[in-house]
Amino acid sequence: VFPPCTSDYYQLDDLLTPEEQGLRMKVRECMEKEIAPIMAKYWEKAEFPFHVVPKLGALGIAGGTIKGYGCPGVSITANAICAAEIARVDASCSTFILVHSSLGMLTISIGGSEAQKQKYLPSLAQLKTIACWGLTEPDYGSDASSLKTIATKVDGGWILEGQKRWIGNSTFADVLVIFARNTTTNQINAFLVMKDAPGLQATKIENKIGLRMVQNGDIVLKRVFVPDEDRLPGINSFQDTNKVLAASRLMVAWQPIGISMGVYDMCHRYLKERKQFGAPLAAFQLTQQKLVCMLGNIQAMILVGWRLCKLYDSGKMTPGRVSLGKAWITSKARETTSLGRELLGGNGILADFLVAKAFCDLEPIYTYEGTYDINTLIAGREVTGIASFKSAP
Ligand code: FAD
Repeated sequence: VFPPCTSDYYQLDDLLTPEEQGLRMKVRECMEKEIAPIMAKYWEKAEFPFHVVPKLGALGIAGGTIKGYGCPGVSITANAICAAEIARVDASCSTFILVHSSLGMLTISIGGSEAQKQKYLPSLAQLKTIACWGLTEPDYGSDASSLKTIATKVDGGWILEGQKRWIGNSTFADVLVIFARNTTTNQINAFLVMKDAPGLQATKIENKIGLRMVQNGDIVLKRVFVPDEDRLPGINSFQDTNKVLAASRLMVAWQPIGISMGVYDMCHRYLKERKQFGAPLAAFQLTQQKLVCMLGNIQAMILVGWRLCKLYDSGKMTPGRVSLGKAWITSKARETTSLGRELLGGNGILADFLVAKAFCDLEPIYTYEGTYDINTLIAGREVTGIASFKSAP
């Protein structure tokens, strides 16, 4: 049984509206009751539990802040709280939703035509169809703006050629958002590629040590034809891609908060239950110090995450601010989950105790949506006015 939430020491729930609190409880209940019992098994097998998709769909959270088209249109804070609540129980599940919603659906919402939004968003919002988001390539990760997949204009559409790597959900997604360089303008455009498009191949990446349930794929595009109506007209440069990344990076920053909360809950219960030297582990000064350090980190992480949401609401969130938040929160979460792993002793390395699973899941999150280093350098560029790395056009 997943332990009750014990990490809200400063009563930060008071910062949420009643609607946001209500949504949080709905998501928490579903995750604890329906999803927690099966996750370790799927994580270990590195399989995706397709049968939980309707349960997640019933929560009505896919599409997050998008208004209309059957999407929930909730506040950015509510969306962030959902990301954290899902990650508190299972980070793979939260990555699945974030890739689908905060990357795939948001790109269609920001860059799509009215007809594209009406065609794709309603079924994506219900999780009846699944999206993925393909930017990264085998040779272009941090340097994604230099990507080499090309889109060549032909009669009635485009021919896409190239490769993508690490793309979450891509082995089963119905709609693949693919970024490619327009050979006429040399700028980056985005295309909606359908699952069964001839020339498209997605192969699962095996042997991951974190987010094992998420199906990350290597994609090969061999002369894939995309009709004109499936090019997103609002994505015409890497700057447009960055608009999506700014919002999704804020959501990603809440995943480590949720992961840390779950690890804290596990440790809080474990230290009281397990005895050594005739006393519960919770009675020792060093274990209390670690637990309190984790708790302090969580309070600070939530405050930073919450403030970023408010900055976003008031139009004051800059690329540097969100990058600093993502980098700092993930590094604090790394410390927190590492302390948690230590507190469980030998059981801290068993996936069934969930702390080891959370500890491993944090590693890819530290790296995706901009590594710790790249996000630090984005903030560094903003505060100094000097770029330490060059983006391609
Ligand atoms: P590299 O860019 O090769 O970096 C290697 C190291 O060098 C890092 O430590 C990095 O910080 C450092 N480095 C690089 N450049 C600099 C510099 N200028 N200064 C200082 N240090 C530098 N991508 C998608 O498009 N869609 C997805 O759905 C997706 N899901 C992912 C899921 C997982 C589990 C993982 C692991 C990745 C996913 N990614 C996805 C890709 C992810 O965004 C990239 O892995 C990430 O941007 C880093 O790129 P890289 O792995 O190529 O590392």
